[in-house]
Amino acid sequence: MNSFDEFGLAEPISRALADEKYLTPTPIQAQTIPLVLSGRDVVGIAQTGTGKTAAFALPILHHLTTKRLRPERKSCRVLVLSPTRELSGQIGDSFRTYGKHTRPLAVALAIGGVPINRQIRSVAHGVEVLVATPGRLLDLVQQRALRLDQVEILVLDEADRMLDMGFIHDIRKVVAMLPKQRQTLFFSATMPQEIAQLAGQMLNDPAKVSVAPQATTAEKVDQRVILTDRASKPSLLAEVLKTETIDRVLVFTRTKHGADKVVRALEKAGLKSEAIHGNKSQNQRERVLADFRSGRIRTLIATDIAARGIDVDGISHVVNYDLPNIPESYVHRIGRTARAGAAGVAISFCDHEEAPFLRDIERLIRMSIPSTDKRTGGPRPQQRAAGDGDRNQRQDQRPGRPYRGNKQGRGGQSHRGHGAGHSAGHGAGHGGGHGNGHHNGANGGGRTAIASTTPHQQRPAEQKPGELGGVTFLQRKQEPRRNNAQRAPR
Ligand code: AMP
Repeated sequence: MNSFDEFGLAEPISRALADEKYLTPTPIQAQTIPLVLSGRDVVGIAQTGTGKTAAFALPILHHLTTKRLRPERKSCRVLVLSPTRELSGQIGDSFRTYGKHTRPLAVALAIGGVPINRQIRSVAHGVEVLVATPGRLLDLVQQRALRLDQVEILVLDEADRMLDMGFIHDIRKVVAMLPKQRQTLFFSATMPQEIAQLAGQMLNDPAKVSVAPQATTAEKVDQRVILTDRASKPSLLAEVLKTETIDRVLVFTRTKHGADKVVRALEKAGLKSEAIHGNKSQNQRERVLADFRSGRIRTLIATDIAARGIDVDGISHVVNYDLPNIPESYVHRIGRTARAGAAGVAISFCDHEEAPFLRDIERLIRMSIPSTDKRTGGPRPQQRAAGDGDRNQRQDQRPGRPYRGNKQGRGGQSHRGHGAGHSAGHGAGHGGGHGNGHHNGANGGGRTAIASTTPHQQRPAEQKPGELGGVTFLQRKQEPRRNNAQRAPR
């Protein structure tokens, strides 16, 4: 599909696409739109940034246009479930943008962190599209402000994130309230077993679309690891922020408390930053995001959950102040930079206790990440050959294998590949239980760099900027962009 005209979308939708200057469908759109138009259930493996939202929103708008029905009171015709309020807001905005000439079209949000009464009013007369986070949706149902028995199309977005955030139970509850006769579209960046199972239960003979193995995001980001001591992380972060050429940086911490601590530490070092996490009010979050977007603040500290769905262009750097214990989170995090073909940098701090996390991450992305050793005590004697150079600034000659000999793998796994032949365990040895088969692909174990190397050398030579294994990553348009305050439900 080279043009949106070939889909036969209703005229008001084509007009909105022309207004947006969308000319060519992205790969996920080319695959998904005809399937959804034909009424099939779809399971899609796709990340944010691939044009996934339009892939489901456009054929849904077409359905609403061609099958006009007045939504019943306290009901919605289309239900989109998303894991975070930010993402829900963005999905709602996309429906409004693509549906700006489609009438009637009421789009409502049901998200936590804002008063429920406005949301009760917004669905009272029925809406075409409701975008919701699972908890608030269930609250509305429990308060008898909403019924779900009229839903014609269900979209579940970022299903793997829903799982990470503990929403699976809520999703099952929601699905049980929906009519059996419906169309279901299910999107996830990864397909771990539990998600595949959920899809199996929710979908009816689904067509499968996939735009790329999720791990390939890693290939275009310039990744580095700095081995450090836990106590040195604050000063190390200040040093990185002062020495790197940074446009916008997203710093990830494991906890909300950790995020606030980092802000305070940076303040002491004379660096301005803001934290965004679930303890902040919706207003605070929106203000901080607006400042980050406009460039008023350059450094945003976030937890995984809060950062999910933050759609800000021009993030030049991601810093993993804490390494995530779920390797897929690492891929999500670094995917926040290097969008639309831009070269992004991801710097990860790894202390002694995080070494097993680093190994899991490298196994998932099938790459060794070059490391620099800045531990104050220097390399552990049993881990480093004696006399291997400047202890504090040395570029590790064995990229990505900081703690060889360390046997503290998770779950009693014996981590193959420590020591000389460490590349062997990558790819084929990945035992993360992901059912999509990507990890056993052609570029499995053999691609891992062993000698001193740069991340650039690890990328496939034929890769063009902006393309990832056949996926084109798109930049969200800055204009026209509503500010977040306008995203609240009317
Ligand atoms: P998404 O993956 O849905 O977050 O989309 C990423 C960005 O790509 C959004 O800002 C969309 O506005 C933009 N986009 C989606 N589809 C297209 C397209 N076919 N042509 C140009 N931009 C697009």
